[in-house]
Amino acid sequence: MKVYLKEYTILTKRFNEIINISERVKETVHESGIKNGIALVFSKHTTTGVIINENEPGLEKDVPEFLKKIVDKNSEYNHHHFFYKDGRMAINAWAHLRSILVGLNVTVPVKEGEVLLGARENIYFLELDGPKERHFVVEVMGV
Ligand code: ZN
Repeated sequence: MKVYLKEYTILTKRFNEIINISERVKETVHESGIKNGIALVFSKHTTTGVIINENEPGLEKDVPEFLKKIVDKNSEYNHHHFFYKDGRMAINAWAHLRSILVGLNVTVPVKEGEVLLGARENIYFLELDGPKERHFVVEVMGV
């Protein structure tokens, strides 16, 4: 079995952002030379998400709005009483909780050198507390 790992950096531009990373995942699979196996897409931040959904502009706006409705920014959170070593307050519990709802990774099948996504399926990176520099990993495993 072969394993190929690539890390990507994204500079997000907005507080909430949904970024289509399907092409980067497909490119990584091509670079890997792996023909059959799986590709893991994993975000390295606890206030982001990785999802698969339809590539439709309206829906891309609906996803962050949906998460805002479920996890209220104005509620009282224990995390907001925590201070980091540099003195910053952790005032982003809602971003962590939204991240938990969507998850930080997806795994997709790789067949004959291609990512096996459905016709409407795209892979998205979700920024939930931007703008920030973000990193995600694509790890391809197979033969
Ligand atoms: Zn935090």
